[in-house]
Formats: sequence, C-alpha cells, structure tokens
Amino acid sequence: MHNHLYDALMAQAKAQPAMPFARTPGKETVSRGRLADGAARFSGRLQHLGLQPGDRVMVQAEKSIAVLQLYLGTLHAGGIFVPLNTAYTASELAYFIKNAAPKLLVCDPSRRAELTGIAARACTGIHVETLGKDSRGTLTDGFGAASTLSAAPVPRGARDIAAILYTSGTTGRPKGAMLSHRALLSNSKTLVAMWCFTPGDVLIHALPIYHTHGLFVATNVALLSGAALHVLPRFDVDTVLQAMPRATAMMGVPTFYTRLLADPRLDQGRTANMRLFISGSAPLRAETHRAWEDRTGHRILERYGMTETNMNTSNPYDGKRRAGTVGPPLPDVELRILAKDGTPVATGATGMIEVRGPNVCSGYWGMPEQTAQVLRPDGWFITGDLGQCDAEGYITIVGRAKDLIISGGFNIYPAEVETEIDAIPGVLESAVIGVPHPDFGEGVVAVIVADGTAPIKKAHIQAALSERLAGFKHPKKVVFLDTLPRNTMGKVQKAELRQTYGDLFTT
Ligand code: AMP
Repeated sequence: MHNHLYDALMAQAKAQPAMPFARTPGKETVSRGRLADGAARFSGRLQHLGLQPGDRVMVQAEKSIAVLQLYLGTLHAGGIFVPLNTAYTASELAYFIKNAAPKLLVCDPSRRAELTGIAARACTGIHVETLGKDSRGTLTDGFGAASTLSAAPVPRGARDIAAILYTSGTTGRPKGAMLSHRALLSNSKTLVAMWCFTPGDVLIHALPIYHTHGLFVATNVALLSGAALHVLPRFDVDTVLQAMPRATAMMGVPTFYTRLLADPRLDQGRTANMRLFISGSAPLRAETHRAWEDRTGHRILERYGMTETNMNTSNPYDGKRRAGTVGPPLPDVELRILAKDGTPVATGATGMIEVRGPNVCSGYWGMPEQTAQVLRPDGWFITGDLGQCDAEGYITIVGRAKDLIISGGFNIYPAEVETEIDAIPGVLESAVIGVPHPDFGEGVVAVIVADGTAPIKKAHIQAALSERLAGFKHPKKVVFLDTLPRNTMGKVQKAELRQTYGDLFTT
C-alpha cells in the first residue's frame, strides 16, 4: 500500500531530485530532493516522538520552507497536518488544542513556555516543539543524524484524513474541516490540468500557508506539476513587482490586484513573461478585472472555493474569462443551486449553492451535529453561499446566505447594492450590511470608502441609487470609513461591521 497524497506530491522529487522546488529572494534555491529529505527527517522525528497514523500535528509558525517540509513530513509519517493562522493569540489556541487534541504542537519559540502550560491543561501527552534553534527541545535539533531519517512513507489510503483546516469562524467558533488524501489530491490534479501548469512555470507565492489557497491550491499544484515556487514571506507590492519578469503565474486574493494596480510600475512590460493571474478567496470586482486587463493585457482568471470543499469552479484557461463570475464548475465537481424549498432555481435566479465531488471534506473534526447541518447523506455539501447560474453555466456568487438582508419582508442581496454603490464616482469600495431595525426587522446600512477623487455625501449615494435600485434596497444609513475591516485573505469582515453598527436604528 502506498501513501495516497504524499507519493503523488513527491513523485517529481523522486524522479528528478535536482529539479528546483522553491526560490526565496536572498536565499539558496531549494531542490525537490532537499524538500523530500527535510520531509523524511521530520517524519523520522515525529515517529520518534511517538506519532501514530491519524495523530494530529498542529502548527502555528511563520511561513517558511521548513513549515512546508513539516506539512509533507506529517503526511509521510501518516499524520494529520493542522495549520493555524499566525494571528491567533495563545488563549485562542487553547480552543484548537482542545478540539484537535494534537500529539504535537509546533509554535514560535516566544510562545513555547505559555503554550506548554495551555497544552498541559487542555489534554495530556502533547509535545510542544519549535522549528527554531534558539529554544530547547526543537523539532529540528539532531537533524544531521541519519537516525532521524524515515525512509518509506507510512501507508495511507484515499479516505484517510491528510489535514484539518479550521474555517475562519466569522459566525461561531471555527470548525475543523477534515480533508482526505483523495480530496486534496483530486482537486490539485484537476487544477493542474485546468490551469495548464508545467515544470516550466514559476509561481509567485505570496499567500499565507495556513489557508487552503496558499497551502493546497498553490503549493500542491506546484508540487504535482513540477512548477517552481517563488516564495515571498508575505504580499508586498515591491517584491511581487520585482518577481514578475522571471515568473509565469501568480495566485492572489483581490487585494493583491487592487494594490498592484495602485502602483504605476505595473504595466505590460513588467507582466510580459507572465501567462496567468488567478484570483480567489473573496469577490474580485468586475472593475478590477477590467482595470487589470487595460493595464497589463491579461484577463484575471477568477475561481471559487472554500476551506471545506477545496476549489469548486473556475473560469476557463482557454475560453471566456468573465468578469464578475467564478466560471463553471470544475470537471469533477457537481454544482446545484436550490431554492428554500429544495427545488432547483431557474437559470439566472438566486439560490443556495451546493456542491458534490471528491473535493468535498469528510465533515468537521469532532462535530457530528455541525457536519450534519452542511453535509447531506448523499454527499451534497451546503456551501452557505448564494449564487446564480447563467445560460452558459457560469456561476456568479451573490454573497454568503448569512449576509442576506431581510428588510420589511424583502430580500436584499448586499452584492447587488455594493456593485451599484461602487460604480458611483468618488466611491472606492463599499460593504452593505443589515442591522436590527424596529420597523423593518433589518435596516440597510452602507459602509463606504471614498477614493478622494470627488466629494461624496449620503445625498449623492441616495440620488445615484434612486435611478438604479428599488427603494427598499436603498441604505437607510451611510457610514464613511477610511478602510473596510478585512482578514488576511482579503475578506470583508461583515460580522464585525454588524457588531459595530448594530444599534444604529435602535438607540
Ligand atoms: P474560506 O473557507 O476562508 O476560503 O472562505 C470561503 C468563502 O469565500 C466562500 O464560501 C465564499 O463565500 C468566498 N469566496 C471564495 N472565493 C470567492 C470568489 N471568487 N468570489 C466570491 N466569494 C468567494
């Protein structure tokens, strides 16, 4: 028996160990052989610590090649990799430790002492280690010793869990999506083929590696296809612009594109070597899509996915990449859009998106009730996203169902109102939310960021919208902010806005 995911991801490393895996500015290129060697060493170390197949390895550490080696080493040892957002505080980590009960927790040296105490209180027998060499008991100590090398990957099947990825938890506590070897491998294979990745590619990797986008979409696609990664610690306009002339592809969240567009150095010359710009994890405004094409000549390819399902849809590589849509479902993903009564909606009508396929997670770790709320017995996963499908099969995401506003009995889709507000001269971007209203149940609030090119007041917004939207969709209050609150993946934090402006109509 083989190790379903590890063997496939590392096939290139076995066949061509000298082939580059990652380049990091100012550092030596890491070959695939070195990547595999590091993974085998971590695997040896994990097994030496007593890791059994199915045990969890929880990691909160800054982006590095070592973390990617630890990811692969965990797979090699038959374990389950559990990466965590680096922004979580030590006290937040207590929840994850209790939920996942890892065998091993890998953290920043500065947190080791505190987390050792938290881990001891949460569960018994957790090792707390670091990747650095400046703290006692690090995971990489003794790496030179041949005894730490584990030769053969521990056998794992397609249905075994490879990783647990926590949802961002904008409502309630984060839930750990269990991703099987098959879910991760099938999705990466589909994306390699869909987006035509080859060993000739150099992919700019400026995303975090605790989220599906940077870890699975970007890293697994590069591993499988033989493409090299240009690894940047984080997104930074200067370093991304410097990387472009020698790279061929970039995967980014919409804020990457808006920030790059704000820099006059972005032009056709700088992007001449690039063949593909991909966007996802949050809605890309049609205006950004158009502005990017005007400036660079490239049409951004937008795709749609989520922690629990990997990628679901993608605009085509060859064929129409349509601004404002996330394209048709991927070849092995079934997608349906249902009305509240469970019947399919008509073409162009809005309903709840459900997906089914090998990409879908096996449920939430240790949460059978929450799993039953989203995963139907016949395999359909209820995404929580509202969307539409047009006559050509292209999907448009209308927004999260929980963001839907019901005011005076009418449904209001925030994305529709935001699109109209964003088109008003002087508006940079907006977020439309519903908050409690004594008469209407919910009242519409528009939170707006001005672009400084034209004076803008509530009256301008109301006047502009009066010609474009039915009255019940108009914001009853308008708030101006300098920036919208966003998480690291560029998603606007609507729950935070609803909390901040929750009593606008009730006090
Ligand atoms: P996460 O699990 O953090 O990756 O968040 C997944 C959610 O992000 C999805 O359920 C969508 O609401 C949203 N999302 C991802 N990609 C897109 C996209 N291209 N357009 C609009 N929303 C997106």
